[in-house]
Amino acid sequence: MKFDTVIIGGGLAGLLCGIRLLENGQRCAIVSRGQSALSFSSGSLDLLSHLPDGQPIATLDSAIDQLQQNYPEHPYALLGAEAVRHYAHQTQTLLADCGLALQGDIATPHQRITPLGTLRQAWLSPTEVPVKSAANPRTGVVGISGFLDFQPQLAAGALRQRGIDAHAEEIELPLLDPLRDNPSEFRAVNIARLLDVPEHFDALYEALKPLSQQYAMLFLPACFGLADNRVFTQLNQQLACPLHLLPTLPPSVPGMRMQSLLQQRFIRSGGSWMPGDEVLRADIINGQVMQLWTRKHEDIALRARHVVLASGSFFSNGLIAGRDRVREAVFDLDVLQSAERESWYRDNVFDSQPWQQFGVQTDGQLHGLRQGKPVSNLYVIGSVLGGFDPIAQGCGGGVCAVTALYAAQQICAQGGE
Ligand SMILES: Cc1cc2nc3c(=O)[nH]c(=O)nc-3n(C[C@H](O)[C@H](O)[C@H](O)COP(=O)(O)OP(=O)(O)OC[C@H]3O[C@@H](n4cnc5c(N)ncnc54)[C@H](O)[C@@H]3O)c2cc1C
Repeated sequence: MKFDTVIIGGGLAGLLCGIRLLENGQRCAIVSRGQSALSFSSGSLDLLSHLPDGQPIATLDSAIDQLQQNYPEHPYALLGAEAVRHYAHQTQTLLADCGLALQGDIATPHQRITPLGTLRQAWLSPTEVPVKSAANPRTGVVGISGFLDFQPQLAAGALRQRGIDAHAEEIELPLLDPLRDNPSEFRAVNIARLLDVPEHFDALYEALKPLSQQYAMLFLPACFGLADNRVFTQLNQQLACPLHLLPTLPPSVPGMRMQSLLQQRFIRSGGSWMPGDEVLRADIINGQVMQLWTRKHEDIALRARHVVLASGSFFSNGLIAGRDRVREAVFDLDVLQSAERESWYRDNVFDSQPWQQFGVQTDGQLHGLRQGKPVSNLYVIGSVLGGFDPIAQGCGGGVCAVTALYAAQQICAQGGE
């Protein structure tokens, strides 16, 4: 099978890269083994909130300057401030084109309210997510009876500590009784499959209506809206006060919506989507990937002029930790890592963990390095890259998006040669 580009991994990075390549007329395939990190994410994307030394950033440009001086392996340091801004802007437009209603902008990061009632800086968040504002309306934090993945008392208590006049409430929804038979079924995604059914709207509305007359704002766990935000919009039109949604423990409804809208766009644009398959190995000759071998297409190789590795970090098995070293699973690319296993971890789990920064080494154009030499037609993007800590630095989604669109641009610039 022949393509212009084959992408390994269909998470945020692989899909954004694939969509951009298709827009530029490329023949493109994505091979993706399983669920991506999006299904477990908040649905908000982080751009950069902290430097590796723990300092909050002042401005994006000054932060990237500091990365270039002190942390040259960070993906943003490799690309530079201008490119990061440029591709972050492009991401905003592309996500909107894919039907994602997001709030936020590079110039104005916001503090989103988390399901624990804490604040976290974000770049882009689904429009339904509450963000910190100067106003302090009396807020009802509403749980759903029997749903354990969201604790309204905990969230309301934490919000009160931040000076927000929040109170815990609970609604009964008998229509969810079929899920209650098995507590492991009573999850946000399964609830959404019921609450997204139009016939169930009235029951949800009736349960929330009295609370909307009592409070100036309501927060509810994000338990509907798998495909779109139709139920959210309708509730906001009919309730007496504004309603916002807090993402719950995984699997996350807003994250799954982002995955499915990007996937749909890729397929509708003519991309070849190969789910449930995995790239097992590659033939590399003279520093170039010649062909890829997958589990399902045993004896039929995938051939492409360009290959993009977007296989994710440890979470998605893009990186594999052995006893003495961490390896990249498909090409055995060079991996940034500290030598001694004892230095991989810090005892305090809340500290920035060194292993979070392990990942593939590239040159300045994101070509993967193998034994120190760039593989000329292989680009590496997203969380399989090394040199950054997505959690402590608050830059996971941003690194994925920016590197994905940068690599797509490098590939398109090479035209049909
Ligand atoms: C649990 C979790 C929650 C997160 N939450 C947030 C958040 O809320 N906001 C934020 O900004 N960042 C978050 N991050 C950071 C996150 O890494 C990125 O935001 C992003 O979603 C990662 O995308 P990715 O495409 O690089 O990798 P992934 O999403 O991990 O996707 C990689 C894909 O590649 C597939 N794959 C791997 N190997 C192969 C192979 N050999 N062949 C074929 N397919 C393969 C995997 O099955 C997977 O589908 C989170 C990370 C994790 C792990």
